Amino acid sequence: MPGSTSNHVRRFPDAGGYYGDFGGNHWPPHLKPALQELAAAYEELRSSPAFLDELDSVRTGLQGRPTPVHYLENISKQLGGARIYVKREDLNHTGAHKINHCVGFALLARKMGKRKLIAETGAGQHGVALASAAARFELDCEVHIGAVDVDKVNANVSLMRLLGARVVPAASGQATLKEASDSALRAYTEQHADALYAIGSAIGPHPFPMIVRDFQSVIGQEARAQFLSITGGRLPDHVVACVAGGSNALGMYSGFLDDPEVALHAVEPLGKDARRGQHAATLTFGRPGTLHGTASVVLQEDDGRPAPVRSIASGLAYPGVGPEIAMLCRSGRVSVDTVSDEEAVATFLRIARHEGIIPALESAHALAFAIRLAETRPPTERILVNLSGRGDKDVDFVLAGHGGGSPNGGVRRGL
Ligand SMILES: *Cc1c(COP(=O)(O)O)cnc(C)c1O
Repeated sequence: MPGSTSNHVRRFPDAGGYYGDFGGNHWPPHLKPALQELAAAYEELRSSPAFLDELDSVRTGLQGRPTPVHYLENISKQLGGARIYVKREDLNHTGAHKINHCVGFALLARKMGKRKLIAETGAGQHGVALASAAARFELDCEVHIGAVDVDKVNANVSLMRLLGARVVPAASGQATLKEASDSALRAYTEQHADALYAIGSAIGPHPFPMIVRDFQSVIGQEARAQFLSITGGRLPDHVVACVAGGSNALGMYSGFLDDPEVALHAVEPLGKDARRGQHAATLTFGRPGTLHGTASVVLQEDDGRPAPVRSIASGLAYPGVGPEIAMLCRSGRVSVDTVSDEEAVATFLRIARHEGIIPALESAHALAFAIRLAETRPPTERILVNLSGRGDKDVDFVLAGHGGGSPNGGVRRGL
């Protein structure tokens, strides 16, 4: 895969799709042949020059890569501590890092002779990115979304339809992301001869976590080279990313995993507080378990069912986490911290007001932790944050005062 040269990336997963204790393939056995077909096709294409050239060309022309690394000068000066830099994944076409692997899956599907992409989406970000990639490669696209979410994220549903996707509402149960995933898996079970499943993060059974990580590694490879060039050859002291399933974090870390002097930080949503059901801090409060076909760490009820989760950032509200992130955190290579809804909203407003950038609420979690960290570190140190997406989708919600408390006296409803 382009740039996946780190020793870590070469070592994991093992032949069975495991990252230490985590990973594997725990989907229904009748889907094994489809996953083996995908793994074999990917193994061949990942080193094919024609495939990599085509991927590069779409990244440049459709996505707008490379995205820059940018110094947050005003915030850094206010803090008086370590300097904060951001990798501008918010500048990607469709507004977040997700298109990095959506474009990859679309190209894979084309090369495999599949005519269709199937996926689930929660807030619609993954669905829009995938619909765009599918349109570019002239593939059909079927996006499953909870019926409750259809109304909530109407603008994204319109975008998906405009881009040619068929939007399938999932009405059972709570009719949100979990039901959408079940519905997408059912559709894939019926259609895998013709379709490829394009999962939303570095989660699910092998080979999905590996493929998503590899396609996302462009973030870290670019960021490393850009950072070295900006700083005259210095690596960052800290690298920070928010984590739901782990795709943006793994993408960013991939540039730095083999540099033991670079501290890697994962930031999870503490939501309202630390009570079960009020947050989605899986690595902090979860236990080993199996979710969506992979063995990992899962937020669970006492009886083992996945616990309800909440976060102001809907892209972070997931009761599991990808197997590779789970391994990296349990081994101590990556440290884990949490940020509350309230702190994320305050950071969203602060970055907008003082840097002219509107971060996604997901990314605001990473930025909030970076600000906290910067305050405790000397000005000689440098922190690199993955700014995973843009916050246009969150503006109305934040300004309507949903942040819990009054985040900023200067901001009025409806501005
Ligand atoms: C989906 C999303 C995330 C969380 O997903 P990961 O797979 O953990 O990266 C983070 N930021 C943005 C902007 C997202 O859309």
